[in-house]
Amino acid sequence: MAAGAAVTTWLERVRRAPSSRIARQLSACGIRPADFEVGDLSRIASLRPCDVGLDGADPVGDARLADAPAPSRLGACERGGHTILVTFSAADLERTAAFGARALAAAGIERGMRVANTLEGGLDTPGSLIVGDALERLGALDVPLGPVRDAKSARAMAELFDRTAIDVLIADDASGAALIDALHARPPRAWRGTLWLGAERRALDGRRWWRRWVSLPELSVFFAVECTRGSLHCDPDVHVEVRPTGLRFSSLSGDAPLFAYDPGIPLRVDPRRCACGDPRPCVETAEPI
Ligand SMILES: [Zn+2]
Repeated sequence: MAAGAAVTTWLERVRRAPSSRIARQLSACGIRPADFEVGDLSRIASLRPCDVGLDGADPVGDARLADAPAPSRLGACERGGHTILVTFSAADLERTAAFGARALAAAGIERGMRVANTLEGGLDTPGSLIVGDALERLGALDVPLGPVRDAKSARAMAELFDRTAIDVLIADDASGAALIDALHARPPRAWRGTLWLGAERRALDGRRWWRRWVSLPELSVFFAVECTRGSLHCDPDVHVEVRPTGLRFSSLSGDAPLFAYDPGIPLRVDPRRCACGDPRPCVETAEPI
């Protein structure tokens, strides 16, 4: 599903300077890196979260293309009980922020809006830092609140939310559930919508929107973000394979690509053409992630 001149140029780089991990994957099925084509991905054995966790000998270097510059940021995500290190070079961060800005705009966040988030910072990817990068690129105001853990802090934060006329909240269940409850109890006038990190749908009250964001940082931080018409559009640099066991993904961009990855989460391709007109492929969830 991924194509285009940028991918072609990037593939030439992979053929010339594969990461150690990709070199092993290709070698195991008899493909010379110099001959690699996207069609060959279907011949590669699947990697699961346990195969890309922290247990490897060189969790930072193994995934990075041989000619990649040193990373300028590290993050980590949890998948299937395993911690996976995610590395970003300056170019990776640039691409993530640029694509994130487009994905957030498609979700309904506009230039000039005030956007609060409760996401963790630190090593957590995606986190407050990545969201801030994308919002800055979009021209929105980034308001990193940090996690809101209990009802008392949620009431105080809801007051701040109202007084600062926040338009949009970005949150996940761990960091934002208490704040969502407090906001629903006394909805601030400026509050227009919520971007929820997760695949959970919510009943809408008709006055505010609710959009979903599925993040697989080891592949793409903005892997799938829901548009204003309700479709989870994929990062166009992620190649999607439909296999008998489910979907499998390969990131075809950046300095630390991941090939033939089965994250073990219930996703399916949504074959409908989205009414928003965006031709990017869509996925849908079989159950909450
Ligand atoms: Zn759409």
